[in-house]
Amino acid sequence: MNPNYSDQAEAFRLRVKAFLADHLPADWKGVGALSREDAFAFTDRWRQILNDNGFLGVSWPQHYGGGDLTKLEQVVLVEELAKAGVPAVGPNDNFSLKMMGGLLLKWGTKEQKQYFLPRILSAEHLWCQGYSEPDAGSDLASLRTKAELDGDEWVITGQKIWQTRAKEANWIFVLARTNPDAPKHRGLTFFMVPMDQPGVTVVPIRKMGGHPGFNEVFLDGARTARGNVIGEVDNGWEVANSLLSLERGDEAATNPVLFRAEFDRMVQMARERGRLTDPAIRDRIAAAYCRVEIMRYLGYRILTGVLSTGVIGPEASISKVQWSEYHRDVTRLAVEIMGADAMVLEGRAPLRGYRCDDPGAPNSSASWVGALYNGVADTIYAGTSQVQRNILGERLLGLPREPQ
Ligand SMILES: Cc1cc2nc3c(=O)[nH]c(=O)nc-3n(C[C@H](O)[C@H](O)[C@H](O)COP(=O)(O)OP(=O)(O)OC[C@H]3O[C@@H](n4cnc5c(N)ncnc54)[C@H](O)[C@@H]3O)c2cc1C
Repeated sequence: MNPNYSDQAEAFRLRVKAFLADHLPADWKGVGALSREDAFAFTDRWRQILNDNGFLGVSWPQHYGGGDLTKLEQVVLVEELAKAGVPAVGPNDNFSLKMMGGLLLKWGTKEQKQYFLPRILSAEHLWCQGYSEPDAGSDLASLRTKAELDGDEWVITGQKIWQTRAKEANWIFVLARTNPDAPKHRGLTFFMVPMDQPGVTVVPIRKMGGHPGFNEVFLDGARTARGNVIGEVDNGWEVANSLLSLERGDEAATNPVLFRAEFDRMVQMARERGRLTDPAIRDRIAAAYCRVEIMRYLGYRILTGVLSTGVIGPEASISKVQWSEYHRDVTRLAVEIMGADAMVLEGRAPLRGYRCDDPGAPNSSASWVGALYNGVADTIYAGTSQVQRNILGERLLGLPREPQ
């Protein structure tokens, strides 16, 4: 099954393909084939090229620096970039472009959009996400970080944890309590906070694979302008939750492409190592193939929903459980296929700390073991598998709510 895209979207696809042919060498194998240093340098350069050619924020309004196209063109773009093995965004853009960009478009005032959106596109502002706290992860509404108004500024105090790429970021979006007397899901406010100030301290946390990328963020009287609130004061819960429904069309389009490239690489490794004759391995590979195909169909379903209604429903939770548990299982299988060789790490670790290594990556032990570590984390961030199943049980299947 293949979906039919509109003529306008197909014309845009040709434009993207021509752009790729112009800007990538003929023997391009994917960013994963580069060394770590070259890949990072390429990604920075490539983001600039995408921006210079109008391929960042393509569905944003033109007067904020976007391309004024539809979500479908955005999906076509990320699909073609994924197929070509190049990134669609820079390293902080999951938080900058997708989350903050999407939130500003939905909730921001005209002044906020005019100020922040162009700076997100130019990467002058790099964002990170300040939601989780030591005692507030799945139960985010238990968070204790407080914000109080002091003249024309909010003063914020508390501790955040697990902030991905906070070391590289210069802005953080923070969910903080502004009304301690309200029930816990109310009285929260969504703030935009500059990080280059004495009240913000970022302390790195090493991941189990030994890489940095994670941080704690201490807010000790951090200040932000009174107007740097998204949505209404005390209505941050609704703003924070709307993140889930943003930009999932991208994910639905790229997940099957990236996971299929990774799957093909694993099959090649099994072939080279003579493991394809093992019936138990063949069985597990066949099951993995089916799961990638299911993801592809689920992707079409999500796309259809997002394109017709503009938001994603409970499919977001089905998708999250499906892809993250697939990735945890397939990376475990790949490491088993590699056998004892996986105990000695050779080659470079995956270029990113989530999901699979990039297209073109070598079948090295460091790549697969790193992807296995990512696979474990994949089932935790953006809502754990258990929490997603609770959502599905309660909101889709209508099962009784779990006791608080
Ligand atoms: C790679 C990675 C990147 C991250 N990046 C960021 C970031 O940039 N910014 C940010 O703010 N946070 C980030 N996080 C934090 C992430 O959002 C939390 O780890 C996640 O929400 C889970 O919270 P927790 O770690 O406190 O675990 P807990 O909520 O304490 O959960 C512990 C266990 O209990 C289970 N559990 C909890 N509640 C229930 C329930 N009601 N029913 C059934 N089981 C339950 C969970 O599934 C889990 O197995 C990141 C996490 C990871 C792993």
